Amino acid sequence: ATHIKISPNNGDINVKKSDHEAEKTAISEDIQEARKKLPVYAVRNRILEEIRKNDTMILIGETGSGKTTQIPQIIHGARLEGAGAIAITQPRRVAAITIALRVAAESKTEVGSIVGYTVRFEDVTSPRTKIKYMTDGMLLREAIIDPLLKAYSVVVLDEAHERTVSTDVLFGIIKIAQKERTEKKLTPLKVIIMSATMDVDTFSKYFNNCPVIYLEGRTYPVTIFHSKTPHEDYAYAAVCTIFQLHSTMPFNHDFLVFLTGQEEIESVIYNIKQIAKSAAGPPLKLCPLYAGLPAGKQLQVWRAAPAGARKVVLATNIAEASVTIPGIKCVIDTGMVKERTWCGGTGAERLRVCRCAQAAAWQRAGRAGRDAPGRAYRLYTARDFQGRAAHNAPEIVRCPLAPTILSLIAMGVEPNTFPLINAPPADSVRTSLNLLRELGAVENVDTTPTLTVLGKKMAAFPIDPKYSKILLSAPEYDCLDEALSLVAILSSENVFHAPMHKREEALKVKQKFTSPLGDHITLLNVFKAFCKATLKKQWCKENYLNHKNLTYACEVRQQLLKICQRFNLNVSSCGQAHEQVLKCLLTGLFSNCAWLREGAAVGGARYVTAGGVPARLHPASALLPARPPALVYSELLHTTRAYLVTASAVQANWLPGGKRAR
Ligand code: ADP
Ligand code: MG
Repeated sequence: ATHIKISPNNGDINVKKSDHEAEKTAISEDIQEARKKLPVYAVRNRILEEIRKNDTMILIGETGSGKTTQIPQIIHGARLEGAGAIAITQPRRVAAITIALRVAAESKTEVGSIVGYTVRFEDVTSPRTKIKYMTDGMLLREAIIDPLLKAYSVVVLDEAHERTVSTDVLFGIIKIAQKERTEKKLTPLKVIIMSATMDVDTFSKYFNNCPVIYLEGRTYPVTIFHSKTPHEDYAYAAVCTIFQLHSTMPFNHDFLVFLTGQEEIESVIYNIKQIAKSAAGPPLKLCPLYAGLPAGKQLQVWRAAPAGARKVVLATNIAEASVTIPGIKCVIDTGMVKERTWCGGTGAERLRVCRCAQAAAWQRAGRAGRDAPGRAYRLYTARDFQGRAAHNAPEIVRCPLAPTILSLIAMGVEPNTFPLINAPPADSVRTSLNLLRELGAVENVDTTPTLTVLGKKMAAFPIDPKYSKILLSAPEYDCLDEALSLVAILSSENVFHAPMHKREEALKVKQKFTSPLGDHITLLNVFKAFCKATLKKQWCKENYLNHKNLTYACEVRQQLLKICQRFNLNVSSCGQAHEQVLKCLLTGLFSNCAWLREGAAVGGARYVTAGGVPARLHPASALLPARPPALVYSELLHTTRAYLVTASAVQANWLPGGKRAR
């Protein structure tokens, strides 16, 4: 492969200094000024030349150099996209949204006109949209409808190093689309693969030795400090470290703390506020940053702290590479991350806390050296660091593949010969094909798998095929109304919200929604009550429910309903005959059954799943303390033990024909 290094003219870009006074008068003029200082902007003509020359290229540049925000604008500025549009994929929905908002502001347009975004269940674009930020999952869905992606003349696959399943599959789709468009003499498809760090050789080889362009930016040295001894509770260690550093570091040094998720960030903020009341030192401006934070609040992160105060950003790994916050001098890294897992769920990502890879730790530390030399405090030992994996393993080799395989077949792609960079284990392809056959979605699995009529409908839903099957069978059980609500609520994050100090009370309140049939009907009761409530925010607070997640579930339900209406499904309700809903659940979740063991529990596990895994009911389950002999669950959660999460009692003879074996 050709390796091209592009340096800023005479290497002399003025990197913006952390200058709070300047930040405070942030008006649109400043946005333009800030743009011009980005490394990418300085070399835009050179980059443009390379883009013109190459149909496929890899662009590597330091995080914050302006790849994501500037490259699409540079292309559009030169009208290189012609009649088509430019798609830029992001692994995370928050990143797609915040970046689109930023780029719309930079180009002085309303988001949704020239610059827009599309994420699952939300489309803010118009026919005029030329620069479209989207999640990789959304572009994949568009490829199901048009595998040649004719709406686009340029596709930018951003954050390629994350190796999400969708991005990996898109690499293959794009490769095929590029070839076919050339053969059919259609507008050629330009492809740009972008990342801060990645294994370029593998990628370049995969894309027929395409050139690799390195953008040389400027970074400052970052001094790394490791903990001497391991910490039991990293969130607690983070709070202690913040206050230690707060008392010694100059006030204008902002902190960036890496945590794992919303609840953790909120509880850390709560603790900091409690301690800050009696601690010495200047005031703290605390800025959370996580997926699902309302867009307006996210933008807070880019505002400077008031004079004399210190800004502390508490972020998930979104601040690692997808968004850059200026002015950070000190990074506090817990070394933890929520990783996607696929234990059931509706295809919405499920997350599990685990140790991050070395590459991620280096990225995090690097955030402290954007504007000046900085420091990174790792709340884990050097030995712990050494023991970690160098890079993230691609998701595709460790996730269940049924949703992906269904999409591939829907695109007319033969799953066994599809060109993937890293092929998943052959076993897991076969298991997934069999599951799809049992769901009635695919036939001829042993020769050339094709979609059945039902399978075609299932592929139209942006959710796991197990759940689209449930929706499509619901009319037979007269419960599509309930099934829609249930699938919507299972697609959102936890709706129960029990703050640490109010746990008892929250449990008591939850009782009024609890159904003896189990967690699914309990969730349904919550959702129904939420829809009826007039003052929803207030009502959620009183009932210890998460307003944001319930509102999201309502939107999801709306979207799913639209697809059901397209198929003329009858949206009827089974009223109080809730057993119908459970029978219907089994049409998709027949493989998610567990049986009570006879005799003694093995190591406390009272159940065994259809797959033979010993497991126990999750302590929050409505089925406790009574334990039904058979149940269906939505998720099998592996922590130190295996838990059945969101479970309901069922009867063995409810299982659809042929699925009765245990
Ligand atoms: P890269 O993709 O190379 O990591 P980006 O294009 O994401 O870089 O970011 C370029 C610059 O734009 C960063 O310095 C970042 O601080 C700034 N930026 C991005 N989004 C916003 C925003 N919403 N408000 C203010 N600045 C932003
Ligand atoms: Mg980026």
